[in-house]
Amino acid sequence: MHKGVDCRLAMTQLWDFLDQELTEENMVAVRIHLEQCSACHPHAAFAQQFLTALSRCRCADPMPETLRTRVLDTLRNAGLMS
Ligand SMILES: [Zn+2]
Repeated sequence: MHKGVDCRLAMTQLWDFLDQELTEENMVAVRIHLEQCSACHPHAAFAQQFLTALSRCRCADPMPETLRTRVLDTLRNAGLMS
């Protein structure tokens, strides 16, 4: 069994995980949790898709700060960000 990444920790680290800003050890631990946890997996999949969409529109056009703020608010309200 990998060492303790619980749901709370996984969600706390989700965005850093997707940005690959965690240590290698934490990257692995979070990834294993996200792959195995039916509660966290949909959040991770959604966040991943969100980032993909975000980077796509960043290429086409810089994202206005207001839009970025609105998106982050939406995520926060959905419980996807702390
Ligand atoms: Zn979980």
